[in-house]
Amino acid sequence: WIHIENLTKEFDTQQGHELVFEDLNIDIEPGTFVTLLGKSGSGKSTLLNIISGVLEPTAGQVRFEVEGAPGDVTLGHVFQSPRLLPWNTLIQNIEYVHENNPEYSRELAEDYLDLVELTEHYDKYPTQISGGQKQRVGIARALSIDPEILLMDEPFSALDEITAEELRTQLMNIWKQLNKTVFFVTHDMTEAIELSDRMLMLGDGRIYADLEVPLDRPRRLDSDEFLKFRQKA
Ligand code: ATP
Ligand code: MG
Repeated sequence: WIHIENLTKEFDTQQGHELVFEDLNIDIEPGTFVTLLGKSGSGKSTLLNIISGVLEPTAGQVRFEVEGAPGDVTLGHVFQSPRLLPWNTLIQNIEYVHENNPEYSRELAEDYLDLVELTEHYDKYPTQISGGQKQRVGIARALSIDPEILLMDEPFSALDEITAEELRTQLMNIWKQLNKTVFFVTHDMTEAIELSDRMLMLGDGRIYADLEVPLDRPRRLDSDEFLKFRQKA
């Protein structure tokens, strides 16, 4: 579980205090795919950054619970801007999150770069690839740690529709097989309805809607069907 409890965030700026949100309370069940929608500037990235520990809340807390007990969870965070280390190759950008893992191998990094179709680019530097490709490295890096909770901040926004579609399908396959909790930020209502179990709307500093998406709707196409679709396209 993720328990977001009485969470408040204020930024101090030259203009004074800016309240982003106040007293948020959200409980997220393990294995759910939650999307977070809201206008630009509503605080979506701020909330994700607090969940992953990049930012400190002003008040309140985020607690993780594993099988009924408080516990450490592995979190993967796909940042809105991918935050790649410019002096490292793509492979090295994945390697550095595995520094403390003796099981790590280069093949693992290659597998995840293959998954996001960057096979030809392993040893390039971030300045030598496009914005959408950088975003895909960010996705590969987060997936490579096999996180229990995957935070994704508009991960497909810089991608063309075909690539986005393909990655949505892959994400759904991963989510279905591995039963991860996904917290996914998007502006795209269709994407949210198609992907998620639950939709949260953030605005005016609060969650103003918390909707369950019925489970029996058509969800993502499976891979074979998608490949046929892609060939036609
Ligand atoms: P977008 O959809 O454009 O990505 P968002 O919902 O992710 O928007 P945030 O990036 O969370 O929005 O920003 C929420 C508010 O907090 C904005 O008004 C922003 O200006 C402010 N803010 C974000 N980071 C900081 C910071 N480091 N210092 C001061 N204010 C900040
Ligand atoms: Mg944002």
